[in-house]
Amino acid sequence: TEADDLKFRDPEAAQELAADIERQMERIDHPVEIMHVCGSHEQVIAKFGLRSMLPSDLSVTMGPGCPVCVTNMPEVDEAVALAEAGTTVATYGDMFRVPGTVKSLADAKAEGAAVEVVYSASEAVEYAAAHPDEDVVFFATGFETTAAPTAAVLQADPPENFYVLSAHKYVPPAMEVVAEMPDTDVDAFLAAGHAATITGYGLFEEFVDEYDTPVVVGGFEPLDVLYGVRRILEFVESGTSGLDNAYPRCVSRDGNEAAMSAIDEVFALTSGEWRGIADIPDANFVLREAYAAHSARRQFDVDPVSGDGDPLTEECICGDIMAGTATPEDCALFGEECTPQNPVGACMVSDEGTCKIRHEYGGHP
Ligand code: SF4
Repeated sequence: TEADDLKFRDPEAAQELAADIERQMERIDHPVEIMHVCGSHEQVIAKFGLRSMLPSDLSVTMGPGCPVCVTNMPEVDEAVALAEAGTTVATYGDMFRVPGTVKSLADAKAEGAAVEVVYSASEAVEYAAAHPDEDVVFFATGFETTAAPTAAVLQADPPENFYVLSAHKYVPPAMEVVAEMPDTDVDAFLAAGHAATITGYGLFEEFVDEYDTPVVVGGFEPLDVLYGVRRILEFVESGTSGLDNAYPRCVSRDGNEAAMSAIDEVFALTSGEWRGIADIPDANFVLREAYAAHSARRQFDVDPVSGDGDPLTEECICGDIMAGTATPEDCALFGEECTPQNPVGACMVSDEGTCKIRHEYGGHP
């Protein structure tokens, strides 16, 4: 309820947690870097000015946690090509303006292509059912949280004219890639609570063992984040890696088993490029053969738009920002040529993108 949410915003409790964190950092006596992997964490941190409550030698940076931002440019190009070839492309609002190599879906729509913004996979199915004369392609993006409903609509025998172009991505392998990057100095991860409601926090046990790095699953109110940070610092102070669930009101060890089995039945994992970051093994969800009849890639000859893109795109360092090795302020275009009104990169388009959040709320890390 709203009252419950407010409870997790109590300023006095926040000050107490911040004081605990300060004492912990004094005892730890060296800089600590925590990476969170979620645009919603970045929003709450920026909106409530949480960084200003933390000691200067504790940095909390955002990793590859913006699904729109990691959607690869050729994936956007595929969606644009499908729209230009005469299908109706339905997609989440955040994807609408994300630049492809030459154009975004918004550009394609302005030129006459059929592009519909939807709020859910089921709304895309409803649109297909109401427009049986159109081929409707749902450009499906996002992590486990949105992969689960896409899987569910495919399992529920959708209309024949409904297709999925999957750009869904799976977060844990991306954390491994970031943990292995030579110039990333991440001491611990604050993992995303909403993805963990699906996967369960037990999923991170292997990661903690393999990378000897603490992981704490955190929620999305200010106290959730501060509590998660304090819990992480307990691990750092004791010199142990470990896993904890700091969001027990929503996350369990095993997660939502029905949603996980739906994802598993509908999707296989394959390697693929995360925009600007790396080619990541087993981190892209693709439709299994049993769902080929609803696969846009199988049913249409997708010939992605090619051509010369905006030369400014070359200067976008979104990938480095999501890998935690740069900040928006390191980008020469930030707030100048690149703004939410005229975004050059995906990190400035999405509400979960670090550049857009920083532009909106300010606040140097
Ligand atoms: Fe890319 Fe714009 Fe962010 Fe620069 S400010 S990294 S161009 S999205």
